[in-house]
Amino acid sequence: MTSKQVKPLSGAVRTSAGAVRPLAGVRITGGLLHHWQRRNGTATIPHTIEQLRAAGNVANLSRLLEQDPAPYRGRYPFLDTDLYKTLEGLAYELGDGRAGEPVREFFDEVVGLLERVQAEDGYLNSFFQDPAATKKPWEDLSWGHELYNLGHLIQAAVAAARRMGDERLLRVAERFADLVVERFAHDGVCGHPEVEMALVELYRETGLRAYLDLAAAFVDRRGKGQLKHSIFPGDYFQDHLPFRELPSVTGHAVRMAYLAAGAADVYLETGDRSLFEALERLWDDMVATKLYVTGGLGSRHSDEAIGDRYELPSERAYTETCAAIAVMQWGWRMFLATGGAGYLDVFERVLYNAYAVGLSADGKAFFYDNPLQRRPDHEQRSGAEAGGEPLRRAWFTCPCCPPNIVRWMAQLADYVAAERDGALLIASYAAARVEGTELGLAMETAYPWDGDVRLTVERAPGGPYRLVLRVPGWARGASVTVNGEAWQAAPHDGWLTVERHWQAGDEVRLTLPMPVRAHGSHPYLDATRGAASLARGPLVYCVEQQDSPDAAVDDLVIGVPEIVNANIERRDDAVVLTLTAAAAPPPSTELYPELPLEEAPLETTVTAAFVPYFLWGNRGPEAMRVWVRTPDATNGKKAK
Ligand SMILES: [Zn+2]
Repeated sequence: MTSKQVKPLSGAVRTSAGAVRPLAGVRITGGLLHHWQRRNGTATIPHTIEQLRAAGNVANLSRLLEQDPAPYRGRYPFLDTDLYKTLEGLAYELGDGRAGEPVREFFDEVVGLLERVQAEDGYLNSFFQDPAATKKPWEDLSWGHELYNLGHLIQAAVAAARRMGDERLLRVAERFADLVVERFAHDGVCGHPEVEMALVELYRETGLRAYLDLAAAFVDRRGKGQLKHSIFPGDYFQDHLPFRELPSVTGHAVRMAYLAAGAADVYLETGDRSLFEALERLWDDMVATKLYVTGGLGSRHSDEAIGDRYELPSERAYTETCAAIAVMQWGWRMFLATGGAGYLDVFERVLYNAYAVGLSADGKAFFYDNPLQRRPDHEQRSGAEAGGEPLRRAWFTCPCCPPNIVRWMAQLADYVAAERDGALLIASYAAARVEGTELGLAMETAYPWDGDVRLTVERAPGGPYRLVLRVPGWARGASVTVNGEAWQAAPHDGWLTVERHWQAGDEVRLTLPMPVRAHGSHPYLDATRGAASLARGPLVYCVEQQDSPDAAVDDLVIGVPEIVNANIERRDDAVVLTLTAAAAPPPSTELYPELPLEEAPLETTVTAAFVPYFLWGNRGPEAMRVWVRTPDATNGKKAK
């Protein structure tokens, strides 16, 4: 491939079919997301670098430069991706001026290794380049993860080029991608989707159509039963049916959502309507039947699979952290394609719940799977993998989630706002400076702890301009004032538009009421039938045993009136909900008592506090529930 036309670094992707363009000019300045980003820099990134070194991810590259290389360390052929995901996060940290010298040294060290380890023909993979490797490159497309590796390399490279203006990694990625364009010109597809999203980004960055065409081909080549590994069924790889014919999201959750996000990227550049129709159908079906209330995707530990419709058990929820990130990637692209606010509702549900719970409060321990319930006698997986850690762990043998958390945390500002012709769209609320369109703003808010948002115009365009504010689906009675006067416009399809001639200093205040909500579940969802979960704003709440001193959390019975009248208390690091509940021990010790039960249980009134779900498990391993019993779920017995 010759005559590369390198585009100027725009800092944001271009899209042709999309209704909305992303915006790179946002900086988060305060609040919860700012706290998360600072913690990423001060705790999670140093910890991750330490773990990557200790686990051998760096040595897996450096050993290949030695005469007599040491054996590859680790069980899986995709361990380079953990470096790539970390580099992607570091590119944001360095580019945005949040990281110091140790981070730059690590970044330079690994980039330097990659430049030197890359083969003459562009191939790069420390597992298959091992002289002692039992398999040759491209011999095992089902399990080799080589294109999955390339995908993460490209994403790191594009991030470094865009955010840092550093194109060293981009050169490495292009050489490998060019090899792949040739090798996969006519057939072949990777067992783990991911490279599709990345190739579209590489196309956006370089303008080279071959990358986009290959991404589109990879989406279309699935569904022919070519991928086989071990005991996994075809749907594990999304290879049992063509993508456009899938009736529902299925198989391995992370593979499925990465594939859909990649297909959405292909649609954004090609405008291929049949692809979009499939994406819309799959998304709608997922949201209606397969997504946990936390936004988590994937019920089954077996095959890390999504599971059947309405198969959403709480204590056995798998909901891998990587799947949460993949659902956000997919949802964001659906928003770009349509401007639909509903996609952002799901995005935010995932962000503040299924994603955020994957990281400990101190930023140094991770959940891989994210259940919605912990039973009091829960048996933690044991053995070397657990390392004796009862909840979140410092690292994993398969460490895909921790560096995925790192890169996503580092780029959260990219998902705060977007642009449509003549309009600035605020997709999510955070204390931030919003630049990149004709309208420059400072946004102040304590969101998600409260729903008051103040936007101050810092730079105004000459003519009229629209400021379009997202009104989340849960926010009833949202209102806006402009310079203190009520703005008479109702939200439409989840957006509230303020169009006017702006002047610097203009102030817009948005109020999103945040009462406590009680949510039930679909009658087919057996696992949570008759139970309620608590939410406030975008946050799902849970009760841990520590906060229910007078009753086991499994015995709490709470009616809707008690939930919606819960006391809302702002503490140091969170908003906590306190409410009264009935303590209702089981009416019978039998596992399957005959109905109706005659004896009424003795009930007492107790107080319990609910904390945001993402904060659970930071005070020791005790019982936890997202879903609590309601009077309806106690064999007809009403709570007091
Ligand atoms: Zn993972």
